[in-house]
Amino acid sequence: MRKRHISRHMPVALILSLVLCAPVFAKPPNVVIIFTDDQGYGDVGCYGAEGYATPNLDKMAAEGARFTDFYVPAPVCTPSRGALMTGCYPMRIGLGYRVLFPYSKEGLNPDEVTLAELLKGAGYTTGMIGKWHLGHHKPFLPTRQGFDTFFGTPYSNDMNGYYYKSQNFLSPPLPLLRGEEIVESDPDQSLLTRRYTEEAVKYIRAHKDKPFFLYLAHNMPHMPIYPSDAFAGTTEHGRYGDVISEIDWSVGAIMKALEEAGVADNTLVIFTSDNGPVTGQRKSPDGPYQSGSAGPLRGRKNQTWEGGMGVPAIMRWPAKIPAGTVVKELATTMDILPTLAGIVGFSLPDVTIDGKNILPLMTGEAGAVSPHEVFYYYRDNRLQALRSGPWKLHLFRPEWKEKTETPLLFNLLKDRGETNDVAAEHPDVVRRLQGLAETARHELGDAVTGQVGSGVRPWGVFGPEAAG
Ligand code: MG
Repeated sequence: MRKRHISRHMPVALILSLVLCAPVFAKPPNVVIIFTDDQGYGDVGCYGAEGYATPNLDKMAAEGARFTDFYVPAPVCTPSRGALMTGCYPMRIGLGYRVLFPYSKEGLNPDEVTLAELLKGAGYTTGMIGKWHLGHHKPFLPTRQGFDTFFGTPYSNDMNGYYYKSQNFLSPPLPLLRGEEIVESDPDQSLLTRRYTEEAVKYIRAHKDKPFFLYLAHNMPHMPIYPSDAFAGTTEHGRYGDVISEIDWSVGAIMKALEEAGVADNTLVIFTSDNGPVTGQRKSPDGPYQSGSAGPLRGRKNQTWEGGMGVPAIMRWPAKIPAGTVVKELATTMDILPTLAGIVGFSLPDVTIDGKNILPLMTGEAGAVSPHEVFYYYRDNRLQALRSGPWKLHLFRPEWKEKTETPLLFNLLKDRGETNDVAAEHPDVVRRLQGLAETARHELGDAVTGQVGSGVRPWGVFGPEAAG
């Protein structure tokens, strides 16, 4: 059923076939995406964080737009990152199956057209720094998926000399790559945020004279978490606060680099996280520490409660986004690719894209509403919930001990914390959302009901089975 085949020539052909339209703006903006790992909805000052400050992120929000209802379409790393790169639900691109491991043969199919490939096709230089996690075999690396340069780790920072019992596989020490070469093994993780930031600043300085796309995907605060010595012990929220404080410093350093390069006004900087936080007390080699927070949202990473997939999102682009914009409409990381298509003027690839152009929301256009009639919450390949307008329907909760056949309905406008089930009072709404769930199952599939989606595309598989 799955086409286990990789064509290395396809992306180039697709890109060459793209017809560039006139850009919406005379001078296309530089694009910087800062993507943190497992930073929760409540882990930024302007989203209510306590015990540490994030002055640079707060300033970025005050000077740009802050989103209250921004989502990633998966509560874990790999599928979330695939969605950002392609503008699609992870299920659509074959990545709705947990995360990739150092023993995995799979990756983001090189046939998919990534945001980096599209921007490169539109004349941008493209650089990636940080965690990729969309396949560590060469055909899947950032350098084969549209990025001119790459410095970072191919997967998560905990996949470091770890023995995977079920696979009888001992992973190598965490590789740090430059381009496609391993330049270090088991790097000092307390220096990763600082080193990535220094690379980012260098990148901005080197490429300020033509449009650039910089994708900075921090390994932190994915556990095990490490601040550098300069930040260790500086906050009242222990190690976690120190790590977020250093990420905030990094945001400030990037803003300063953009200012000094004279490009800050026409650079769109997007800050968000790949999924919700790990919560509660965690262990590390140096002892236990308090971890992240989803703020007022229920749940955490790995879950389809709001806290698993609702993330902080801040966008700054002084040339177009009015200072102090607050966006309360639903938007997602899938929207970034089609929004940039509208801004820069490149055509979308000739495949189904789930994201929508949210420029009117970003720029605070009066009366602008979310372009999404519905948003689907998949956990791996299981459709667990969906949202339409203010309504969120939970279809299936795996953590329930007693299997319930009764869906839960929440009005997120009144009850973002998902505490008051109103399904019994709104049977018509439940029925409407159940109908929308059927559409998703038909199109994207659902392991809960055993349906295979008619609109899904295959992931990439590396190895002999892909040779044919
Ligand atoms: Mg993550």
